[in-house]
Amino acid sequence: MKSIYDSIDVLPGVGPKRLEALHTLGIDTVYDLLTHFPFRYEDIQVKNLEEIDDQDKVTLKGTVVTPATVHHYGFKKSRLSFKMAIEDAIVMITFFNQPYLKDKIQLEEEIMVFGKWDALRQSLAGFKILGSSKNNGANDFESVYHVNKHIKQKTVVSIIKSALEEYYSLIPEIIPEELSIRYHLQSHKDAIRAMHFPKSETEFQQASRQVIYQEFLVYQMKLQLVRDSRKNQAKGISIPYNVEQLKEFIQKLPFELTDGQKRVVNEICRDLREPYVMNRLLQGDVGSGKTIVAVIAFVATILEGYQGAFMVPTEILAEQHYETLHQLFKGTPFTVSLLTGSTKPKVRKTILEELASGKLDLVIGTHALIQEDVLFHNLALVVTDEQHRFGVNQRKTLNEKGENPNVLYMTATPIPRTLAITVMGEMDVSILDQLPAGRIPIRTIWSKSSKLEGSLDFISKQLEMNRQAYIITPLIEKSEVLDLKNAEDVYQKVMEYYQGKWQIGLLHGRQKADEKEKMMRAFKDNEYQVLVSTTVIEVGLNVPNATVMVIQDAERFGLSQLHQLRGRVGRGSSESFCILLANPKTDNGKERMKIMTESTDGFYLSQKDLELRGSGDLFGIKQSGMPAFKYGDIIRNANILEVAHTDAVMMVSDEGFPSSSIYQPLLHFLKEERGHSTRLQ
Ligand code: ADP
Ligand code: MG
Repeated sequence: MKSIYDSIDVLPGVGPKRLEALHTLGIDTVYDLLTHFPFRYEDIQVKNLEEIDDQDKVTLKGTVVTPATVHHYGFKKSRLSFKMAIEDAIVMITFFNQPYLKDKIQLEEEIMVFGKWDALRQSLAGFKILGSSKNNGANDFESVYHVNKHIKQKTVVSIIKSALEEYYSLIPEIIPEELSIRYHLQSHKDAIRAMHFPKSETEFQQASRQVIYQEFLVYQMKLQLVRDSRKNQAKGISIPYNVEQLKEFIQKLPFELTDGQKRVVNEICRDLREPYVMNRLLQGDVGSGKTIVAVIAFVATILEGYQGAFMVPTEILAEQHYETLHQLFKGTPFTVSLLTGSTKPKVRKTILEELASGKLDLVIGTHALIQEDVLFHNLALVVTDEQHRFGVNQRKTLNEKGENPNVLYMTATPIPRTLAITVMGEMDVSILDQLPAGRIPIRTIWSKSSKLEGSLDFISKQLEMNRQAYIITPLIEKSEVLDLKNAEDVYQKVMEYYQGKWQIGLLHGRQKADEKEKMMRAFKDNEYQVLVSTTVIEVGLNVPNATVMVIQDAERFGLSQLHQLRGRVGRGSSESFCILLANPKTDNGKERMKIMTESTDGFYLSQKDLELRGSGDLFGIKQSGMPAFKYGDIIRNANILEVAHTDAVMMVSDEGFPSSSIYQPLLHFLKEERGHSTRLQ
């Protein structure tokens, strides 16, 4: 029986060679082919000369008035030219390196040429000849497909045409009718046809709405189904901890939890008690107090006799967390150890033994935790801090060290909602959108002069009050291409300027891991008052005594990254400053600098970042497994995405789901569909 999921070689004209070529384009089935839409359309409507702007791509129709002449030059290079009369005007038409066209150009004949218009010269650089007169009923747009060197445009078009003819009626309609009606969507069949061969701009717009909504809906359905099945499966570890004992621990903390922290702790603890596996993302701005939230979750876990693992990206961060926990666990029976790459073999051996026997309650560490010989007795809670710093597989490896342990990811890079419902859609999300009381907001200043000297005087005044400062630069070494300040240069400059009055440290990504750690530690201990650094500094370093952050060439960074960098100061009780040295050339750059001086809200900044720079630039997102949508764009089509998300949530939580007949085509599709764009990682 014929199916839309038939391999494409069932189509006429697809032999082994073309099959191979189509495979490399990600096309396996007839449905893949039918949803291989043009990536652009060329407007081949014949235009009047007056309507055309310089450099427009247009089709001109006219009469050939001079014979075509071919001029050869260079190696295999040629220029063919002739004149064409369009009403009263005469224009010059030139084709490069297509001498064989000469035969097609006959004096006195009417032809149509597609090309790029040069208004000054009144000439057209021709791309192709469209035949002697326009076919009746032909489209005004010519579809342009992604191809490769093994298959031509023309071939793809003809294969798609025959696929449309033979398989049109088999194209599945999967969107529940109620939704199609609500959003005035045409059928998927019609949308597909129109995407390939639109008759007008409006028809294309209409079709793309259907296609994008369907793509997002399918993706969101998958996420919701994953989430739903996790919640309905009692294969996790239920942790019915003693509430009174946990409260007692919380009461002994040196501060009261913020309302946000209380809410988030409740969300997490509810997950812990339930028999399903917790899979939760905690998003909280820099300094919002995520660590203590994790600690409380660990205590709940330990109270029930289970173990926890806390993974962080750097040794220095691991040490910081260890110190915090060591302090908090004083006077309790809870045990905690630190395991990193620098842990001495003897100590490491003991830790591994205690983890395996269950003697040790909690381990904090770096990547050292995911080594093969690290085994747990009964790991029930895994927390990954600064989760975007780890690869998908690293996080997975740690999670697999227990039997379906509860998982909490933490990030200080708030993810805008559109991204969160896409990248993190199958997770539950907790948000800490409030800083502990009493923090003095960081003052951000944008200096357009982009001169470091002015800031050095300012820094000096702060240093005289026993404070410390960071100077961030985008590059390590001098670059011939880019005129950017580089860390080594700046380091020299700062040394000369201060003449030994202050100690200056240098930190960059080319240094070995232990050199970096050593430098950060020395800065923390105030052995250096100024730290010149590249962006390697950004992760979690906590030096409350640092009050100035100078960022050079700040326009080179995205808002989220600037915000992260800025978050290195303002951690103590004195007022802190962030100085952006930037002379952006673009409006976008200026806008970003301005926004930085106006907002310290990480959520707001990440949304703006997404709008101004696109998702690819938001660090960490690519790693987190950003799905490659074929047609939908999560920024431009954010509204459609939001609607599709809501609809998917609604459908999956609907009482009638999945038995109701209206969901059957969609569920069937999710099972059958082997497309590439919507495959989950
Ligand atoms: P982040 O969310 O960036 O990881 P941390 O957990 O490092 O933030 O917390 C930042 C600082 O705020 C720490 O010094 C911590 O002790 C402190 N802190 C956390 N919660 C509170 C609170 N409720 N009240 C006062 N200080 C708090
Ligand atoms: Mg933190």
